[in-house]
Amino acid sequence: MMAILKRCEENGNLERITDEDLGWMRVALAQGEVALEEGEVPIGAVVVKEGRVLAADHNRTEGDRDPTAHAEILAIREAAGVLGGWRLLETTIYVTVEPCPMCVGAIIQARIPRVVFGADDPKAGAAGSLYNILQDRRFNHRAEVVGGIMGKASAELLRRFFRNLRDRRQDGGNSTDKETCSEG
Ligand SMILES: [Zn+2]
Repeated sequence: MMAILKRCEENGNLERITDEDLGWMRVALAQGEVALEEGEVPIGAVVVKEGRVLAADHNRTEGDRDPTAHAEILAIREAAGVLGGWRLLETTIYVTVEPCPMCVGAIIQARIPRVVFGADDPKAGAAGSLYNILQDRRFNHRAEVVGGIMGKASAELLRRFFRNLRDRRQDGGNSTDKETCSEG
């Protein structure tokens, strides 16, 4: 893989990211946008091997009524189906938000060697924020982790989701008040 050092515009760190990485992160962000439109927490993930998308999906916990339907889990399952096996060797997973412990567990099980994510998740992140499981030598698999790639855009998607949620709650409160008034 062509690995060039590029200054990440957001965190100022020198990271091993390529233009290709930025392109795939845009694909993950587009998945996050779809999630937002569907009323899901807007997180997108893409699994790529040798310049080819194996799977791209987004969080579906609400629609699927499934607490495990995180973007990474769905993309990993689909990618394994495409490859015809559970080992996702020589792949990179791009995800808009730092993976949680469950998803990091799935990344280890799938033997994914490289993880690129956007925004940090200080409340649930297991790729450096709360835990750094992917680089814990006690596990039989470790991955290269690159964070903060298009992190601002990824975090902005989340902000839009929670702003919509608050607005809806406030609208709900107002309409109840109106009903009460008309009844009175
Ligand atoms: Zn997760």
